Amino acid sequence: MIDAAGEALAGARGVPFWLDTELRPDRRERLDGDTQVDLAIVGGGFTGLWAAVLAAEQYPARTTMLLEAADLGWAASGRNGGFCSSSLTHGLGNGLSRWPEELATLERMGRENLDAIEQTVAAHGIDCSFTRSGEITVAVAEWHLAELRELHRQARAAGVGEQLELLDAGQVRELVNSPSYLGGLRDARGTALLDPAGLVWGLAEVAERSGVRIHEQTRVQALVDEGDRIRLETSTGVIRARRVVLATNAFPSLLHRVRPYVVPVWDHVLVTEPLTAEQRAAIGWAGCEGLSDAGNQFHYYRLTADGRLLWGGYDALYYFGGDLTSKRARNEATERMLATHLFETFPQLAGVRISHTWGGAIDTCTRFTAFWQRACDTKVCAVQGYTGLGVGASRFAAEVALEILDHRDTPRTRLEMVRRRPLPFPPEPFRWAGIELTRRSIAGADARHGRRNLWLRTLDHLGMGFDS
Ligand SMILES: Cc1cc2nc3c(=O)[nH]c(=O)nc-3n(C[C@H](O)[C@H](O)[C@H](O)COP(=O)(O)OP(=O)(O)OC[C@H]3O[C@@H](n4cnc5c(N)ncnc54)[C@H](O)[C@@H]3O)c2cc1C
Repeated sequence: MIDAAGEALAGARGVPFWLDTELRPDRRERLDGDTQVDLAIVGGGFTGLWAAVLAAEQYPARTTMLLEAADLGWAASGRNGGFCSSSLTHGLGNGLSRWPEELATLERMGRENLDAIEQTVAAHGIDCSFTRSGEITVAVAEWHLAELRELHRQARAAGVGEQLELLDAGQVRELVNSPSYLGGLRDARGTALLDPAGLVWGLAEVAERSGVRIHEQTRVQALVDEGDRIRLETSTGVIRARRVVLATNAFPSLLHRVRPYVVPVWDHVLVTEPLTAEQRAAIGWAGCEGLSDAGNQFHYYRLTADGRLLWGGYDALYYFGGDLTSKRARNEATERMLATHLFETFPQLAGVRISHTWGGAIDTCTRFTAFWQRACDTKVCAVQGYTGLGVGASRFAAEVALEILDHRDTPRTRLEMVRRRPLPFPPEPFRWAGIELTRRSIAGADARHGRRNLWLRTLDHLGMGFDS
């Protein structure tokens, strides 16, 4: 029997909506031959591209080359929800619990970072539908409301919540009309929504105009310290670089010591066909805010520039051994569950069809934020760990990576968040078993009004977690 979710999904294209466009630029040529550069960047997502753009801005005389194993933005950077958040700490709650002393600084730096992204987009005319429409976290259960009020109180007490506004059910529904909303917490300036593929392609153009050489289809297979330079080996050439940024996100790091700190977690997204004027009128949403719900397992959703509804999240799937093969980009059970949740939230949209569905791998670490790993006498800096909130934070992370490689002592490199690393995950099979137990415990907490069991409380105490 086909239910409403199955019917809506029938005929959906299994490709990321953002990448399914004729605007995709021609592929850059793969590396051919040996060369020397001042800076080599491995990875052509947001982190690598921001590192390229910032390096070219800050040191125009130095030579920079970016190497991408496949196509620019094919991975997380072209598959995400397009929420460009000012938060560098994976949200205020995580920041409050981990870096209460420096949270005010991190929040200020995060806002400056988002402002800088907005300025780059405007200055270079990057076509990525950047709109600073803010974000609302909605409560769909009574305990969510209590948690949002407590977060608001704690943020105010820590001096970082002045931009936050608590909304009651009527106020939220006035903005976006779902019968499930009981209240919400709005940050009207802390998030921009954008078309991530547009930003990827725009940043690549900016970097190339400033002299950066970009090669796609060029996988770096090995990295060797030669003393004054790092040798990067590919199947079509060798690069000798004075400095290297590794921006490989959820993929196995070329630095083996980084691998225990990151696990690939699959997150899934649906996009509907463009909503009709009647459907839009039925759900309101004139302000086009980004929305997410407040549970531990949460959905994130938004409208696209052409009036579709993007709906993702909730299930965060880890496969034994960290499976990253493309077969994991589709998961029928998760897609059906997401579609069911979408229609439960917006029953007014019954009958809307899903045009695109896809999944992507997130680089989850146990503290949910970027971390930096130096190697080879600080000639190499690897940065990853965003855990599903890297669209905005990747610019900050790239800036810090360049400062670390330059041995610069700055307010950013002095941050505890930058100086310390997260706790590692245990090896398999304990990794898979621990993550499974954590996922089940999180689902259980959501079902028990947020009450965390002994396992989750122990992890909280150790400063370890699992999220998307
Ligand atoms: C489904 C989904 C939804 C998300 N939604 C949001 C959101 O709404 N907001 C948000 O802030 N974040 C979101 N994220 C997370 C965000 O997309 C990422 O944090 C961000 O894109 C990370 O960028 P990156 O450049 O570090 O990694 P990636 O974009 O993954 O790029 C890494 C690149 O490195 C390349 N590479 C790896 N190894 C090598 C090698 N040896 N040689 C050469 N190249 C190599 C890969 O091919 C890849 O292109 C989401 C992620 C997913 C998957």
